[in-house]
Amino acid sequence: MTTYATLNPRQRLLMGPGPSTVPDRILRAIGSPTLGHLDPQYIQYMDETCQMMRDVFVTKNQLTFPVSGTGMAGMEAILVNLIEPGDEVIVCINGVFGGRMKDNMQRCGATVHVVEVPWGQTFTDEAIAEAVSKHPKATMLGIVHAETSTGALQPIQGISKIVHDAGMLLAVDAVTSLGGHELKVDDWNIDAIYSGTQKCLSCPPGLSPVSFSPAAIEKMEARKTPSQSWYLDVSMLKNYYTGGGASSGARAYHHTAPINMVYALREALQIVLEEGLEKRIARHRTVHLDLRKGLEELGLTYIPENSLSTLNCVATPEGINEAAIRTRLLNEYDIEIGGGLGVFAGKAWRIGLMGYGATHRNVVTLLSALKECMSST
Ligand SMILES: *Cc1c(COP(=O)(O)O)cnc(C)c1O
Repeated sequence: MTTYATLNPRQRLLMGPGPSTVPDRILRAIGSPTLGHLDPQYIQYMDETCQMMRDVFVTKNQLTFPVSGTGMAGMEAILVNLIEPGDEVIVCINGVFGGRMKDNMQRCGATVHVVEVPWGQTFTDEAIAEAVSKHPKATMLGIVHAETSTGALQPIQGISKIVHDAGMLLAVDAVTSLGGHELKVDDWNIDAIYSGTQKCLSCPPGLSPVSFSPAAIEKMEARKTPSQSWYLDVSMLKNYYTGGGASSGARAYHHTAPINMVYALREALQIVLEEGLEKRIARHRTVHLDLRKGLEELGLTYIPENSLSTLNCVATPEGINEAAIRTRLLNEYDIEIGGGLGVFAGKAWRIGLMGYGATHRNVVTLLSALKECMSST
């Protein structure tokens, strides 16, 4: 019989595009006793988690809950419920994650109109206005707030007005912005939004916070055909997460909630709220500027439009073996950073400063390790 070594993962400093380093406080929360998913004590924790999620999304949307699965499951939960076969939709692509939205929209049976700008750039209000007037029958526009593949931060407010003036819904990927950048779901009039736990919330991967506006709920309730996904069918999930509006508050079992992951998310959201959203966003900004200064002193340059604090996309110097440097960072210094994706594959490093990991101390640690590796690889 094979014998296996005891599980003993190394303590890494996770400074890539996610997951980010998880504080012990959250790991301890995961280790709390597992309750049943209909236990009143658990339901209370879950309700508190959803309320804290509303506070962090800055929304009053009743239908705000953690989808069982990572960020991509949150994306799919939104698209399979808001799109019916035959719908026309618009998607904005300026990196990897807009491309995934497009793929998923097509699988929902939509006719997808693509608006594209080169990787790294963001969309102007004019570009969106043009797309919207060209496709007036579209029911929804999908866009990424923080493109983790390029470091681009997309302004949302102007776009939101254009999309709503045309009578469409706005769906937003906020996986790398929630908890690290300003994001106001109600003020910005976002109809459907998904995020992830393992980026700026510093929680292990496994849940996707989502929120739906009343207009999004209306669109779902008007469906002629049930959603193609049984697991992600929000019309059933809402009976568990919100009691379906039933005055008894009774919760209908759909699937077993990932109990201990919800503990982790609750703890993570509590940490965010204890720090305060504004202070947390300012911290990400300060630490980003810190890192930017240090990287530029090392002679590295950012991808021109990098506007994210949470993800720093820097061009790798000509003539160096960028993958070998990442391997050395990991093996000799226990530091993980990311390589480039798509058009930036082999040409960029992606350095995350997310949540608990966004500290001056981590910036100093990474800069000195990177300097050593770059001088001798
Ligand atoms: C990480 C990320 C995702 C994917 O989320 P998973 O948790 O890997 O499923 C989606 N969108 C953006 C912008 C991301 O950074």
